[in-house]
Amino acid sequence: MRDDAPNSWESRADRFSLYGFTDLPTIHDRGAVVLTHGKGPYIYDVHGREYFDANSGLWNMVAGFDHKGLTETAKAQYDRFPGYHAFFGRMSDQTVMLSEKLVEVSPFPDGKVFYTNSGSEANDTMVKILWFLHAAEGKPQRRKILTRWNAYHGVTAVSASMTGKPYNAVFGLPLPGFHHLTCPHYWRYGKPGETEAAFTARMAAELEATIIKEGPDTIAGFFAEPVMGAGGVIPPSAGYFQAVLPVLRKYGIPMISDEVICGFGRTGNTWGCQTYDYMPDAIISSKNLTAGYFPMGAVILGPELAARVQAAAEAIEEFPHGFTASGHPVGCAIALKAIDVVMNEGLADNVKALAPRFIDGLKRLAENPNIGEWRGVGLMGALEAVQDKATKTPFDGKLSVSERIANACTDHGLICRPLGQSIVLCPPFITTEAQLDTMFEKLESALKKVFAEVA
Ligand SMILES: *Cc1c(COP(=O)(O)O)cnc(C)c1O
Repeated sequence: MRDDAPNSWESRADRFSLYGFTDLPTIHDRGAVVLTHGKGPYIYDVHGREYFDANSGLWNMVAGFDHKGLTETAKAQYDRFPGYHAFFGRMSDQTVMLSEKLVEVSPFPDGKVFYTNSGSEANDTMVKILWFLHAAEGKPQRRKILTRWNAYHGVTAVSASMTGKPYNAVFGLPLPGFHHLTCPHYWRYGKPGETEAAFTARMAAELEATIIKEGPDTIAGFFAEPVMGAGGVIPPSAGYFQAVLPVLRKYGIPMISDEVICGFGRTGNTWGCQTYDYMPDAIISSKNLTAGYFPMGAVILGPELAARVQAAAEAIEEFPHGFTASGHPVGCAIALKAIDVVMNEGLADNVKALAPRFIDGLKRLAENPNIGEWRGVGLMGALEAVQDKATKTPFDGKLSVSERIANACTDHGLICRPLGQSIVLCPPFITTEAQLDTMFEKLESALKKVFAEVA
């Protein structure tokens, strides 16, 4: 399995790289998968092994790993103007064009865009914008941030505080003032006998009770992913956003849609808020924004927030925020191209066309007695392993069932992600029907193998 020679890629990776979000027992046992290149939806390791990447890298490599239009665009822009910032009233022409394009393709009739290097920083930036805005409007006490358990908003100190995962406790996070509401996952958190409609109503009632308890005038904003991605692909319970939005509106609390995964086609529409039919006040974008070909994030403010933030900035003559590489010309050129590729070169259409086959595949594998639930929309999905389907009892965590399934897939040339007790699939938008079928065949044999070992 792993090559233990001191000069092997695996040993060299172990020796000098600090692994993040990596199961270390798996590394000790199997070694890191060290990659050299990619082709379409496939990636290749230093041993020449080929893998179909059913996770699109980390959700983001939606156009695959060798899209010539994207790499040519990057090369041309590097030759033309390889880097610049967006401070002091200067910015590249690419940055101007990308902001125009992002507002054009956003659900907003008008707006303003601010750039970061990642999704985490985009969420951080949005929180700072809200703090800045409320203070400027005479409400400096409006600082608390509402998110949900299982939400993933990033890893910086602020965005990790927004993330609703127990692992952040090792960092002494969340920071004070970050509140997590119940995860709207009906299958897991619905009470016995509770209908989905009653569950959704309970989520909205909890939100309102929290707002009242904390004090409506202390809440800066509410952030939500349309579909929770890194929480394990959790679509909201039916009617969730229609139930929570009126509550937020009632108390004047801005609603921010974290579309880092859902944005640009993943759910079958350009934005997840379109799939779930709600209108946020701002959108957070990253990942698909550049199809993974450049690290970049963006805050897209809708017209109302844009006007208020602009007024707040005018009042003190500047908005004192920005990253050295905000609005990087190469990133912006790549994003412009990626948006064009996804929206106009058939990728978004392919997601729509493939989605029924993808969902059928999930449903078929969910017939397995050790799969408790399938979840998914568009081209993102998950299968949740359970020891007992009727009682939804999970496997003993020590069995590492999802890691074993993912490892068995890796052995057969399929990359998929273990997340809690589920297996997450989010193949690139360029995936063909035949590749999708092969993905499910490989996953099915891995499920059979591992469940036979542990059940
Ligand atoms: C990945 C992700 C982030 C964080 O983005 P990074 O670029 O990793 O900082 C934020 N929100 C959501 C919904 C994500 O999936």
